[in-house]
Amino acid sequence: MGTGRLLAACIDLVLSRSCVGCDVLGNTLCPTCWAAMCQQVGPHPQITAWPVAIGAHYQDQAKAAIIAHKEHGVRSLTAPLGTLLASAIATLTSGPTLLVTIPPHRGSVRARGADTTSLIAHRAAQVLTRANQPARVQQLLTRHLDKGKQVGRSAAQRQAAIKGAFQSRPKQIAKLVKFAGYRIIVVDDVITTGATTLEAVHTLVNADVIVAGIAAVAGTPSRSWQSTTQR
Ligand SMILES: [Zn+2]
Repeated sequence: MGTGRLLAACIDLVLSRSCVGCDVLGNTLCPTCWAAMCQQVGPHPQITAWPVAIGAHYQDQAKAAIIAHKEHGVRSLTAPLGTLLASAIATLTSGPTLLVTIPPHRGSVRARGADTTSLIAHRAAQVLTRANQPARVQQLLTRHLDKGKQVGRSAAQRQAAIKGAFQSRPKQIAKLVKFAGYRIIVVDDVITTGATTLEAVHTLVNADVIVAGIAAVAGTPSRSWQSTTQR
């Protein structure tokens, strides 16, 4: 998927507000900020057993866009964030793809009125499908233990809090037979220490689901690496 196609998908938005990255009037995300945030992040230090692709560093414009979409309901950002996720996924696989999202906290869905990561994943699936890479979103997990949000916790605390949080959905997993040839990519909006993502992946693997890789809109591997080595 070329940069021009990604940029076109972004510019094709209904734009009526100021840019979340630089406040310039007219666009919720201006072309300059969009171009600045499209900087893929390198390998994640804690996730070594699966290929990982991350669309942007979780800072500056990308952080502002994700927070505006997630916390402030700026839904016009679903398109560029979905395009960013699609571009990350496209580096992992070019064939048919199933995107498996990580279930959000129930309180988050109530507060935001939507599962914002799922919105982004559905948009990414559309972008990939239009680029001749058939893609679907599948919900293969539920969150049955909820110990609150991970923000502010150390890597060790995150790992302890997320242990056993997810359950696989046997009926949905049984339907995977309809998707022979599809590769399964676990997707999230932001990967920090990787604890939540890895717990989700391990839950799927324990249910005999073959996970081909992990993709996120944005990530902070350098900060999580520092926090882990300081323990
Ligand atoms: Zn801007």
